Amino acid sequence: MNVYDSDKMADILRESHGFELTSNEKEADLLLVNTCSIREKAQEKVFSQLGRWKSLKKENPSLAIGVGGCVASQEGEKILDRAPYVDMVFGPQTLHRLPKMYNDAVQSDRSSIDISFPKIEKFSKFPKARDVKASAFVSIMEGCSKICSFCVVPTTRGYEVSRPPEQIIDEIKDLASKGVREINLLGQNVNAYLAKNKKNIKVKLADLLKLVCDIDGIDRIRYTTSHPLQFTDDLIAAYEDKKLANYLHLPVQSGSNRILKLMRRKYKVDRYLDRIEKLRLIRPDISISSDFIVGFPGETQEDFDATLNLVDKVGFDQSFSFIYSPRPNTKASEMIDDVDHETKLKRLQQLQSKITENAKIISEEMVGSTQTVLVEKKSKKDENQLSGRTENNRWVNFDGPGSLIGEFADIDITEALANSLRGRMSRLI
Ligand code: SAH
Repeated sequence: MNVYDSDKMADILRESHGFELTSNEKEADLLLVNTCSIREKAQEKVFSQLGRWKSLKKENPSLAIGVGGCVASQEGEKILDRAPYVDMVFGPQTLHRLPKMYNDAVQSDRSSIDISFPKIEKFSKFPKARDVKASAFVSIMEGCSKICSFCVVPTTRGYEVSRPPEQIIDEIKDLASKGVREINLLGQNVNAYLAKNKKNIKVKLADLLKLVCDIDGIDRIRYTTSHPLQFTDDLIAAYEDKKLANYLHLPVQSGSNRILKLMRRKYKVDRYLDRIEKLRLIRPDISISSDFIVGFPGETQEDFDATLNLVDKVGFDQSFSFIYSPRPNTKASEMIDDVDHETKLKRLQQLQSKITENAKIISEEMVGSTQTVLVEKKSKKDENQLSGRTENNRWVNFDGPGSLIGEFADIDITEALANSLRGRMSRLI
């Protein structure tokens, strides 16, 4: 979502001030950092980045620096204590106010701060996207009301708010008219999407997916990130439509019911397995990925073994795993963090190597099959090669002309490498 938000910042400032992006920070008039505070490490990176930018300001006194996103939302004015040379501090919900904040900051010598939560006001202020690629993100809801004990999101992004369906559909139709073929619907808790349409009828994620499936030109749809609690039957039924990618990211976090309870996830392992089983009745070969937290306060070896067991049971594809990081204003940060760092590291490595092994087996099983890929770009290593993504998010490199970028193509998979696949084009779709 930060990628989406950053693109919107560029769009809005291009429209208001004619700013264009540069890859050379030394020639910039305005430097913005869009931050993440989901774990402490991400947060600390912000201050080292700002430290590097401080010296640029000495060389160019008219340079303005802004800090946006969740660290800004969490720290507010405190950012200025550590980095007083920052001109603007704005939150995820106030980025559309950047043009005015920028004017205020350059016209006075005071920093401009706005980290309020004006609900979904920002979406109606965004100009239409200009530079599009084959695949595009579209935010449909923001925030989270689940209050998991480890998670900072409800305090930084706010509680769940959903955009009106008509506004979302208009944005996607515009993207489709500009050549976008794949849409990734975004939300911190995307399957909690719930909004009323103009006829005052409630629209859930499953309903919205149907509307997106009906848009000409959009042939592949993804959504992220879902919470298992609201992975409802109607959402499972939505997989009848083949436009929904054969891939689901459904973070389980832990395979231990005891830890899930301490995390306040509000489901048990059986519920998770039941959802997957039901989904596999419609999509037997669907690829499932997850996020995991290891070393949550009180996690025993037995709890961790339960997570490893679950990985085997579900056969997770490429997934994300993290060492627990205490976050401000969360319940878990008050718990006794009794797992030593070495054990946490060992568990993380063990879990990651199990998941990598699973993902490798899945890649190897794809050799010999034909996969539909969305051709997105020229390959990084070889100009004559193209790169496209399969439904289960693997990059495939193959020979082909640049004119195929933005098209779907059937590729015979010939080789599985560590981070990608190789193939031969069999058919353009
Ligand atoms: N809304 C999603 C999570 C999005 S955050 C959900 O409820 O499943 C992305 C991932 O970061 C989470 O799934 C979790 O695995 C990880 N994460 C969140 N808070 C964390 C923390 N305090 N420490 C370590 N990892 C964390």
